[in-house]
Amino acid sequence: MKKIAILGSTGSIGTQALEIAREQQDIEVVALAAGKNARLLEAQVREFRPKIAALWGRKEALDLKERVRDLPVRVVSGMEGLLEIAAMPEAEILLTAVVGMIGIKPTIAAIEAGKDIALANKETLVTAGHIIMPLAKERGARILPVDSEHSAIFQSLNGERENAIHKILLTASGGPFRGKKQEELREVQVEDALQHPNWSMGRKITIDSATMVNKGLEVMEAKWLFGVELEQIQVVVHPQSVIHSMVEYSDGAVIAQLGLPDMRLPIQYALYYPQRRPLSGERLDFYKLAGLTFEEPDFQAFPGLRLAFSAMRRGGNLPTAYNAANEKAVALFLDRKIHFLEIPEIISSCMEQCHFMENPSVEDILETEAGVYAYIESRW
Ligand code: NDP
Repeated sequence: MKKIAILGSTGSIGTQALEIAREQQDIEVVALAAGKNARLLEAQVREFRPKIAALWGRKEALDLKERVRDLPVRVVSGMEGLLEIAAMPEAEILLTAVVGMIGIKPTIAAIEAGKDIALANKETLVTAGHIIMPLAKERGARILPVDSEHSAIFQSLNGERENAIHKILLTASGGPFRGKKQEELREVQVEDALQHPNWSMGRKITIDSATMVNKGLEVMEAKWLFGVELEQIQVVVHPQSVIHSMVEYSDGAVIAQLGLPDMRLPIQYALYYPQRRPLSGERLDFYKLAGLTFEEPDFQAFPGLRLAFSAMRRGGNLPTAYNAANEKAVALFLDRKIHFLEIPEIISSCMEQCHFMENPSVEDILETEAGVYAYIESRW
């Protein structure tokens, strides 16, 4: 049995991971954690019988404890709860599928406890990659990417350990507003931005795809995961989302991973790496593929992508400012309090305001996040 703990089990990634556990039959789910969706978490606890379950709020956790008192499950809450799950001896692998910087401390705790990490929570590497990657190397913990693009790169690196990467070609669908000019994005509504052409994902990441901030975050994530220079990462818009990303080697050979857009594949690959397991569902039919096309990203229409490169180029706590500003701006947009184009404006303004720190600690990162939140709350 493969023993896994899941942070963010009620979300888009978390529920798909549980579908895999249901299908594969040799996964034991030893812990589940969610934010506030007590009803779904209770159903998951009843089905998967973990040893520990966590809800963020203490009161909600106490309610859940009462509701599942017929089961041998410990219910915990808050950051202590997440840290307990991260380090629990029964788990071999921790799937971090929470949204936001809340994932940093549990990821560190799991690495320190010698676990492998199946990493969906990209904010962890974006903001604390300089802490996480050296720590994982020192402790011999594997960081197995779940993000589909990074999984594709990871798969394209198989058997190539001796060969240096020349370039990473990070593909992007372009989102629902591909081809539009900035002027045309002024009146975009929440409903329009939530219409992703290819992938079905959580609301926050779907908005991030529409602004292309998601691709910006992925550029930062790729830099840390694969240890390349920023200049070696090229974003390629590929509207069909068939090629999930590619690696170019020094001899010009390009190796890619292709498939239908289905997050279960990269999740399953991370959980079973280096083994491949059968997976139900449709397959790519090359006779039916009308054509694969590629474009340059439009950095004018999507300034969020341009800002990601400048945040990463400067480094330090600027990626944190970028990420925190985006999180708050997306929440404001979803609440219809700001326009679509104000999202990158807010990010830019927060990056300018940010008190720069070259080599931030976890506490500095969290302080930068709090500072950005306070700045946004005072102005918008
Ligand atoms: P969702 O919003 O669908 O799910 C987030 C999960 O985190 C939920 O289970 C939520 O619980 C839980 N959560 C939120 N706050 C807390 C907290 N304080 N303590 C414990 N759990 C909490 O997000 P996604 O699944 O879409 O994304 C998760 C991560 O994976 C993100 O970092 C995203 O960027 C990344 N990712 C997602 C992809 C996708 O296809 N969805 C693709 C690639 C990467 P509750 O339901 O109770 O609020």
